[in-house]
Amino acid sequence: MIVVFKPDATPEQVEQILTKAAELGLKTNVSEGVERTIVGLIGPEDVLQVTPLAAFEGVEKVIPVLAPYRLVSREYQPEDSVVDINDHIRIGGSRLHVIAGPCSVEGEERLLEVAAKVKAAGATLLRGGAFKPRTSPYDFQGLGEEGLKILQKAGKEYQLATVSEVMDPRDVELMCGYVDVLQVGARNMQNFSLLKELGKVDKPVLLKRGISATIKEWLMSAEYILANGNFRVIFCERGIRTFETATRNTLDINAVSVVKQLSHLPVLVDPSHATGRWGLVAPAARASIAAGCDGLMIEVHQNPKAALSDGVQSLVPENFETLMRELQPLAHAVQREL
Ligand code: PEP
Ligand code: MN
Repeated sequence: MIVVFKPDATPEQVEQILTKAAELGLKTNVSEGVERTIVGLIGPEDVLQVTPLAAFEGVEKVIPVLAPYRLVSREYQPEDSVVDINDHIRIGGSRLHVIAGPCSVEGEERLLEVAAKVKAAGATLLRGGAFKPRTSPYDFQGLGEEGLKILQKAGKEYQLATVSEVMDPRDVELMCGYVDVLQVGARNMQNFSLLKELGKVDKPVLLKRGISATIKEWLMSAEYILANGNFRVIFCERGIRTFETATRNTLDINAVSVVKQLSHLPVLVDPSHATGRWGLVAPAARASIAAGCDGLMIEVHQNPKAALSDGVQSLVPENFETLMRELQPLAHAVQREL
């Protein structure tokens, strides 16, 4: 790390840091400029967490050299991570994977019908919320365990891996009994108790980006899961809140390549929540593949007008099928299969 002193820092104040560094077992490199002194500290940066050097008199700032999200970072692992799901789906490999299905599980018959259609169109994973994080407590909250049973049945019937959101650390065990991938929703990206719990399970975690989270905060949330022992984490960019109101969220397309540069973990994009309107899902999906994402999550409903949540952004199965066909040449153009 690098300690930058204020222009008026005294030699005694610099000496205090050098003494502290020696106590912490760090080597030092002092550079006395015309304007100010800078000290490079050489050794493990962990000591920064327990010794706030920025609190010492005369210090203007302390700049860490290593990323704070170390297990998640490319420095820790230069090659791409491939997250295995059920031993046959490899997220982050050469093939792009698409997770499709309704926002919420609404009933067995409806889900089985959608599952058959998204499978035929080329999706490899089936989504469906059973515990729904709704803005209003009066809106449909999901079918709970009953919804998980239906999702599991549909997944088995059509050989689709299943993805569903877990909102509460107390539900983690229950969810592990039914679904293949546990989704952390945008509203829970910084639910640290939940993240710690997910670090202990033997299931992949789909970590959506928080509504107003910076990329660094998002990476730090993933670090919680890895630091607790679970390395099977998949990022999902789902749009962020900006001043723009024409769309539900603003798809941060930069985030795909930024996260892929900073981290070895795979990155998916959810163009449904990122745009909030079904007519904008296809262009956002195309842009995401061009930007280098490892797959997509798309909401599909056979009757969006009657959907219990997110009908406005849901594709009908026919449009989903057309989109999947259109995405093929695009995937090939970026040396991926779909
Ligand atoms: C969802 O996937 O249905 C969902 C609620 O997404 P997000 O957490 O990204 O809003
Ligand atoms: Mn939704």
